[in-house]
Amino acid sequence: MNKQTLITGFPRIGAKRELKKALESYWAGQSTKTELQQVAAELRKKQWLFQKEQGIDLISCNDFSLYDNMLDTIVMLNAIPERFQTISDPVERYFAMARGCSTAVALEMTKWFNTNYHYLVPELNDQLEFSLNATKIIAEYQEAKRLGITPKINLIGPLTFLGLAKTAEGADTYQYFEKVLGVYQELMQELAQLDELVYVQIEEPLFVKNPNQKQLDLLEKAYQQLAGVSGRIRLIVTTYFEHSSEATAVLAKTPAWGIGLDFIYGPQNMASLDLIKDKKLVAGVVDGKNIWRNDDEAALSLLHEISQKVNKEQIIIATSCSLLHVPYGLANEPESEIKKWLSFAEEKVAEVVLLKKLFHAEQLSLEDEAEKNQNRMVLAAKKDSQLINNKEFLQKMKGITQIEREGTFTERSALQKRLFKLPQLPTTTIGSFPQTREIRRLRSAFKQKLIANEEYEAGIKKYIDDCVAFQEEIGLDVLVHGEPERNDMVEYFGEMLQGFHFTTNGWVQSYGSRCVKPPIIYGDISRPAPMTVQWITYAQKITEKIMKGMLTGPVTILNWSFVRNDKPRAEVSRQIAVALSEEITDLQAAGIKIIQVDEAAFKEGYPLREEDITAYERWAVANFKLAVSTADKETQIHTHMCYSEFNDIIKTIEAMDADVITIETARSGNEILQIFQEIGYQNEVGPGVYDIHSPRVPTVTELVEQITALTQVLPREQLWINPDCGLKTRKWDEVKPALQNMMLAVTKVRAIKTQVLV
Ligand code: GLN
Ligand code: ZN
Repeated sequence: MNKQTLITGFPRIGAKRELKKALESYWAGQSTKTELQQVAAELRKKQWLFQKEQGIDLISCNDFSLYDNMLDTIVMLNAIPERFQTISDPVERYFAMARGCSTAVALEMTKWFNTNYHYLVPELNDQLEFSLNATKIIAEYQEAKRLGITPKINLIGPLTFLGLAKTAEGADTYQYFEKVLGVYQELMQELAQLDELVYVQIEEPLFVKNPNQKQLDLLEKAYQQLAGVSGRIRLIVTTYFEHSSEATAVLAKTPAWGIGLDFIYGPQNMASLDLIKDKKLVAGVVDGKNIWRNDDEAALSLLHEISQKVNKEQIIIATSCSLLHVPYGLANEPESEIKKWLSFAEEKVAEVVLLKKLFHAEQLSLEDEAEKNQNRMVLAAKKDSQLINNKEFLQKMKGITQIEREGTFTERSALQKRLFKLPQLPTTTIGSFPQTREIRRLRSAFKQKLIANEEYEAGIKKYIDDCVAFQEEIGLDVLVHGEPERNDMVEYFGEMLQGFHFTTNGWVQSYGSRCVKPPIIYGDISRPAPMTVQWITYAQKITEKIMKGMLTGPVTILNWSFVRNDKPRAEVSRQIAVALSEEITDLQAAGIKIIQVDEAAFKEGYPLREEDITAYERWAVANFKLAVSTADKETQIHTHMCYSEFNDIIKTIEAMDADVITIETARSGNEILQIFQEIGYQNEVGPGVYDIHSPRVPTVTELVEQITALTQVLPREQLWINPDCGLKTRKWDEVKPALQNMMLAVTKVRAIKTQVLV
């Protein structure tokens, strides 16, 4: 049968986060391994049968994972770091690598390209044996066969595996290329035994990031060999999230059966089509990464354009990437106008199938015909919807002329120093204090309308009172209110702004059992009323010290949301910036002197292609500056970023021109700060002096050392002393001694005179 449709991967977590619940219950010792495996098998079965029933030709297996598919690849290659090798039970060992155990720390985790999914980073060294363990792959294949499905097998490719791995000394990971490739070859041989014809889709997203010649040479070598292992294997090599022109040129020369390309986020892939002649083209034309209903007319014209270059029969219609990055399905969402505009994983599967029928001009069933008409109607109605067309608003946006605040840093700083009279090495925290069970309960009761406004407000005030009292008691200089009213730093603002939609069940896997429910930005963003003024001014009233206002920045709100696709991201972020600038005006008018605008996700938004970086930096900085443009010279603007690596973006950070930036700490404060010193950074910096991600309480001695080390790199006048991130995930009995020690340490360092060593 001619294969015409394919899905690269499906969400694993389940429509109702069944996998999350099963994992957490297993980890808590409340269920058995068998019970966990049963839930996993049920989830696979459900989505396999769903795809089959919808009519997908190439349905994946091995896209499922109990935790992460990079971790599965580590297991497949038997690249288990030594510290886990003593754990004999494979499931226990697997979770120990993911989450750590009493004898070993977990593997490092980091973001998968430009998504919010996190993978576990392979650790490679000479001791690893690299041998094949195909148990999981073969078991899933057989499982699908028993359900009457001949699946394609999904794998992370050898080059992406090596490219994302790390070695202890930072040595080249490609030195293990031969060994790793050897295992993949063996795997192909084994897979070739499974059936007369076996479809294998290997994902190589590494190649969307400006590959170098060495990577391309290895790519050619790898697929010359892998695609040549057996005539029974039909090998597809797939990239996504961007174009991969360099790799396509290489892959075209190999005997791979098919090449998968993303035409949504990599339109430049269109230019490579001449190369694909004798191969199958997996054409990613339905957005797999965003949640908007497919515009089938647009997708069809894309397909027609593709078919100018590639024979129609060679085209396999697909989503642009795995559906892992979108929620499971719309079935459990309440009805609303916006719901009609959306498409989650299940809907996307149906979209691919309908598109195939339209593309091949197949006779449509009555149902298909209805779906097609519905689609066109909804999209037409959306274009004119009141919800996204607000002329007054657009007029207002045009009228915005102030794009940055007045005064140079030197001018502002002189004014602020005179006004604030802060001591040397001023101390502060990043914003949140522990989110206790009581405070979560209070918020949720209020949300569900189980308690009255008065009771809720009294509860929040009580938290703020205690939080402020504690900060005063230990002598912090710039206080925060503790953020008890916020569930999440983006959701809180999204709920108060117009243009945001919140799903009830739109969960997306972030890592392991951890899911996030990103807000959906569907329309123009505006601020009907102040968002933070009430709580910040309350907090300011109960203290003589300066209370810091706390906002989330325009780039971070954008990067942690699903964003409308009918306007450029830069423009959406600009609208958020304007809303925030209005909030700053109100905070100032209410007497707030210091305002922090968090940009925790600033770095996450960086484009995958080098050539696009300048444009991103330009609008991201411009929007940050626009957000704070209403701040008077006397108002001190802080920003916070959850990173410690600033080397490559330091000029951009400098251009943001925040009066103070607080950042995440690395092992040695000296190292991170070096770059600020090297470029002659003028504004103030608060390098986190201890790691809040660990429950460990730092001692006064080590904090004195840490702070002293900082003062050896930057002048004391330029430094702030603070923890390295918000304290919301910690407990009060960890936070209290830690901050007390921080204050004791600062007092000691203030008393010693040291010189800046250059
Ligand atoms: N103000 C936020 C907090 O303290 C900042 C958190 C973050 O940047 N991740 O929680
Ligand atoms: Zn942080």
